[in-house]
Amino acid sequence: MSKILVVDDSAVMRKIIKKNIKESGLLVDEFADAGDGKQALDVVSHDNIDLILCDWNMPNMSGLEFIKILRSLNLPKKIPVVMITTEGSDSKKSEAKDSGADGYLTKPFTPEQLRNALGSYILVN
Ligand SMILES: [Mg+2]
Repeated sequence: MSKILVVDDSAVMRKIIKKNIKESGLLVDEFADAGDGKQALDVVSHDNIDLILCDWNMPNMSGLEFIKILRSLNLPKKIPVVMITTEGSDSKKSEAKDSGADGYLTKPFTPEQLRNALGSYILVN
């Protein structure tokens, strides 16, 4: 059983990400959605999430702020977080890593790139 939390302020983008995950052969049982970092924190506190895919730029609470708070919480298990963003610069990548992100994926991505980015956290068909 695996449940992925998809965090993005665009509902269309969340839909695309979920569609790509399904098509990439990753074994996911369930999805949860959040429109910003605040909603994502709420989901994480109530739900058993195995992996988080997180947009960078969002209103209310950005992806980076979300990861920093998430990593400061005393959760029973460490949930892997993969950042998804349009900005693929090295400084952005290291900023994400320093804040506690486990992986990084640049938009737009292919199902294969998605599979490579998530394959170490979710079983692949
Ligand atoms: Mg966004």
